[in-house]
Amino acid sequence: MVFWDIVRVFFPKVVLVALALFAFRLVVLTLLEKRNPAHVLVYREVLPKDILVTFVIGFGVFPISNFLNRWIAYEPELPRLVMELPLAIRIVLYLLIGDLGHYWVHRLMHTRHFWRTHKWHHAPTYMYWLAGVRASVTQVTLVNLPYIAAGAFLAFSPWWIFWAIILKNTAQNDFMHFNRWWGNRWLEWFIVTPRYHHIHHSDNPDHYNSNLAALFPIWDHLFGTYVDPDTVQKPLRFGIGESVPPIRLFIGI
Ligand SMILES: [Zn+2]
Ligand SMILES: [Zn+2]
Repeated sequence: MVFWDIVRVFFPKVVLVALALFAFRLVVLTLLEKRNPAHVLVYREVLPKDILVTFVIGFGVFPISNFLNRWIAYEPELPRLVMELPLAIRIVLYLLIGDLGHYWVHRLMHTRHFWRTHKWHHAPTYMYWLAGVRASVTQVTLVNLPYIAAGAFLAFSPWWIFWAIILKNTAQNDFMHFNRWWGNRWLEWFIVTPRYHHIHHSDNPDHYNSNLAALFPIWDHLFGTYVDPDTVQKPLRFGIGESVPPIRLFIGI
């Protein structure tokens, strides 16, 4: 009994679920990528480091950012008319407005003064499902702002919405960094694909500040930051070409 009490204290249900999900992603996604990777990668060299980074993000960056967001996030109260819309419509509005805000926060982080908040995300010189896990405290705090504001559409929603959003965010991040040249022009009118986001990480100056969208590519088309993946020269190379002290990458300063 004492043993299980200790397990329960140190591994609450949410941590156990996260660990199980991570093990599933580790096996299934790595195997899927290895069938036909977009870029050659020695997984045993990058995985141990990135698993450590994942723990730093989960137990360091996320709690600190959540704490900061409590002080600076804005949660509007929406009119009753909006709140009476069907849940499916409110979910679509949440995704559209949150993603539009994410696009502009991302664009801001690619400007000279805010680049330091986002460097860590672009630091890896390789691309695969776990490469996009890096995000500084300042990046996560800033990116959370539009989603918290858009979260007003989901007030009074069923309990599972919270878990669905966490799952969607995880799947989205895994997918856009996936080490396969997946995607086509038709699909890329609707959703960001791996090859679409790989261009965003490219170290080729022609690709700087391009394909900034996180979920809906329409923002890149509307705001002039779209680069067609069919027109780029492969293979792409990644990274920021400088070494920055880890603590500065972590905080984003
Ligand atoms: Zn970026
Ligand atoms: Zn990325």
